[in-house]
Amino acid sequence: MRILLVEDEEKVSRFVTLGLNAEQFVVDLAADGITGYEMATAHPYDILVVDLMLPRLSGTELISRLRQNQVETPVLVLTARDQLDDKIKNFENGADDYLTKPFAFAELLARIRALLRRRPVGSTMLTVGDLEIDLVTRQVKRGGKVLRLTSKEYGLLEYLASNPGRVLSRTMIIQYVWDQSFEGLTNIVDVYIRHLRQKIDDPFDRKLIRTVRSAGYMLSDRDDE
Ligand code: CA
Repeated sequence: MRILLVEDEEKVSRFVTLGLNAEQFVVDLAADGITGYEMATAHPYDILVVDLMLPRLSGTELISRLRQNQVETPVLVLTARDQLDDKIKNFENGADDYLTKPFAFAELLARIRALLRRRPVGSTMLTVGDLEIDLVTRQVKRGGKVLRLTSKEYGLLEYLASNPGRVLSRTMIIQYVWDQSFEGLTNIVDVYIRHLRQKIDDPFDRKLIRTVRSAGYMLSDRDDE
C-alpha cells in the first residue's frame, strides 16, 4: 500500500512516516500543496493524508482540485483547526475523514485502515492464478494455504500482483518497494525475488514469477506471457 502524505511540518511528517513504515506502508512525502497535487495526479496512491495549512496551495484547495480532475483516491485530512465549519466544508469538498492534531498514531492508523476497507468489495483482494493477496489484512494464500512473508517480500509481491502480466524493471521495483536511498542497489531486488520464489513458487508446480531477461520480473499465470 502506498500513501502520499502532504504535510509541511517536519515533526509531524517524520512521526507519521516512521509509524506507517513500521506498519509496512510505503510513504511518499510532499511538503507543499502544489507538489502534493502533482504527485497525487502523477502516481496511483491508495490513500492521501493531507494537512490543511500548507504552503503554496491549501489542503482544501488541493482536495477540490483533485476531485475536479477525477482523482478519487480516499483523503484523510489532518489539521490543527477543529472548528465545525471547516470540517463540513472539507467533507463537502471531497475529504473522506478528518483527524485533529495532535493525534495518537494508533488513531491515524485505524482511520487509514477504515478508509482502505471502505473501498469497493473485491478491490481489497488481488488474485493471480491460485495466489490470493488480501490488501487489508496482508494475508497471502496460494492454493488455499497461508504463506508467511516478511514485510519486504510482501511489498514486492503486492507490487508484482498489482501489475499482472506486466514486466517491472528492477529500478521500478526499487522505487516502489524501497525508497530513493536504495536507488542503484538493484541487486537487492534479485535477492528478494529469490526469497519470494522460495515461498510462493518452489512448493508449487506452476510457477508465477517470471524472469524477463535484461528487463526485469513479471507475475503471471498465463502461458502466453
Ligand atoms: Ca501545516
